[in-house]
Amino acid sequence: MAELPKTDDLHNEEEDALIVLADISGYTAFLRENRMALAHASVIVRDLISTIVDVIEAPLEVNEIEGDAVLLFALKEGKSEEEWEECKKHLGKTLTELIKAFHSRVDEHIALNMCSCNVCANIPNLELKIVAHSGKVVCYRVGQFKKLTGFDVIVAHRLLKNNVGSNRYILLTEPARDDVFSQRRCILLNTRNTMMILVR
Ligand SMILES: [Zn+2]
Repeated sequence: MAELPKTDDLHNEEEDALIVLADISGYTAFLRENRMALAHASVIVRDLISTIVDVIEAPLEVNEIEGDAVLLFALKEGKSEEEWEECKKHLGKTLTELIKAFHSRVDEHIALNMCSCNVCANIPNLELKIVAHSGKVVCYRVGQFKKLTGFDVIVAHRLLKNNVGSNRYILLTEPARDDVFSQRRCILLNTRNTMMILVR
């Protein structure tokens, strides 16, 4: 019989990480549509997900695609303070780059799509929400799959259930803000009317 894992080992495996969720909104409305519309929705969302994935660069990694959201993370473990300062330059840029790339791609879909189904007519309403939180994660492997778990991963998911009156924003918790930006300030984005929100 295989040996059972010791539960107290779990805490030792916790690593500091930045957790990011990029969530496409305006998609679930399609789920009640007919089969053809659903097929169009899945083609469009798949394309937008790959647009998001293409923007990702180290230290951010794609962990999982969760329906119409992408779970990303950057491990801080093993990086010196200087190295992480260097990472911040990429992280802040990557988050804004995600919004830009997403909406440029949406614009291309609008320009090229000739279909009149409800899904295709709804493309202009697709938006990208980004939430970021920093904390502890447990990263483990099951076969070829890398799984990210931990309380702070749940916190990141909960951040998507908020009362922000917009579907276009980057929402950061304070620890995430400190991990993403060098200065202790939150910049307001001029990018595509995107709101930058800080959660205390
Ligand atoms: Zn269509």
